[in-house]
Amino acid sequence: MLGCTLRGGSCPLVCLWALLLPLVSLHSLNQHGHRGRDVRDHPKLLLVSFDGFRWDYVDRVPTPNFHALMDEGVRVEKVENTYITKTFPNHYSLVTGLYAETHGIVANEMYDPVLNRSFSMETDSIYDPRWWDEAVPLWVTNQRAGQRSGAAMWPGSDVEINGTYPTRYLPYNASVPFETRVEQIIEWFSAPDEEAVDFGVLYWEEPDESGHNLGPESSLMDVVIVNIDEKLGFLRNELRKAGLYEKVNLIVTSDHGMTQLSPDKIIELDVYVSRDLYTWVDKSPVVGILPKEGHFEDVYSKLADANPHMMVYKKVEVPEHLHYKHNIRIMPIIIEAQEGWTVMQNRTGRFMLGNHGYNNSLPSMHPVFVARGPAFRQDYVKTSMRSVDLYPLMCHILSLRPLPNNGSLANVRDLLSPEPTTPTPSVPARVPSYSYAPAVGSLLGVVMVLGFLVVYIRQVTLKQLPSLPLRSREMSQPLLQEDLHL
Ligand SMILES: [Zn+2]
Repeated sequence: MLGCTLRGGSCPLVCLWALLLPLVSLHSLNQHGHRGRDVRDHPKLLLVSFDGFRWDYVDRVPTPNFHALMDEGVRVEKVENTYITKTFPNHYSLVTGLYAETHGIVANEMYDPVLNRSFSMETDSIYDPRWWDEAVPLWVTNQRAGQRSGAAMWPGSDVEINGTYPTRYLPYNASVPFETRVEQIIEWFSAPDEEAVDFGVLYWEEPDESGHNLGPESSLMDVVIVNIDEKLGFLRNELRKAGLYEKVNLIVTSDHGMTQLSPDKIIELDVYVSRDLYTWVDKSPVVGILPKEGHFEDVYSKLADANPHMMVYKKVEVPEHLHYKHNIRIMPIIIEAQEGWTVMQNRTGRFMLGNHGYNNSLPSMHPVFVARGPAFRQDYVKTSMRSVDLYPLMCHILSLRPLPNNGSLANVRDLLSPEPTTPTPSVPARVPSYSYAPAVGSLLGVVMVLGFLVVYIRQVTLKQLPSLPLRSREMSQPLLQEDLHL
């Protein structure tokens, strides 16, 4: 029976094929649609942070690569970052659009009284997801939307946040050169369509480290800034070589600036209050003080008016506009040093010539911001923005629905090209390329059914049907009769 003849025995299979063909076509559509994102049309975005790159460094020494990006795209002169102006809080604000009190990374050094655990950027404590899970970074949102993300050393990007790692990422290792990070992330962007990332984050530790050690006023910083510009030049060249320069939207920014310190501007807390009465949680210039049980008022009263170069807040009295109050990881007493001043317990600790972390209204704390690419205007300078506005802007570029955040796309929409270069959401954009498949499949099915009918009618007119008895199975499948007859 399986040895069907062309004329009659093939009919059940032909019918089956004819009926299934359109479905097969549809199945192919779904399968293709699932794994075959049209990456060529989907927007791409690379967010780069040069840690501690102050906004005005680009005007201090020749920085041709930064200025090329400004000419080709946009510059924002004043970016108000989030309080406190430290590395971990601000990098998380950039990718969540949230203030520190909301995203939960409130400092580089933290204590969580519920977890009864401490966080330090110097230890493996950062790999505990519970510190990060109060927010969802953009790379996770991007992946939940079916896209792919790549992360090269961005703070927190090698942590399993909300149960998710970036699609591709490098575990943090400060000794990996900038050039290697760039080559890796460009490889991820350049992968075959179904493997390529759409969103990348890239981090470099300088000029922060040199800014701390030398002080931003040092003429030695000039060389450091020129070197960062050369690194940006390397990135631009690698993007060009990969054919990505005109396709990738490139944002170059930072977490904070840097200000000059002086050994003459030191506040020694031991002069005012015994260190036995409190735990020193976060470091200068915004210090988190956790009084020992029963000593809150005692510690506060001893510090409150102790030194004119520091503000001392009870947590509940921190000004609302700083958005640094509503989180249990913010300590009961907060000391904020005046710009340029250093808070220490005594002078035996490590002293730096440059620091950041001060009030985010200070220009010296503000980071650089330049961007270029198909989504951005050209040769456009904007006076100011808030760093939390970057998140909704990036979501817009990536056609992602932003999660609730503290930013506003309306505040930064003028950075975007007025031309309709922002592609429509990816799912509708994919449909047209597959729309012929079901129609072709159906047409082929109809043709084959008609062909079968012609053959069958011709056959029954030439042959006499066998008489009963036939089993009911065969009655319902008259096309089998020729084989059975044999
Ligand atoms: Zn930093």
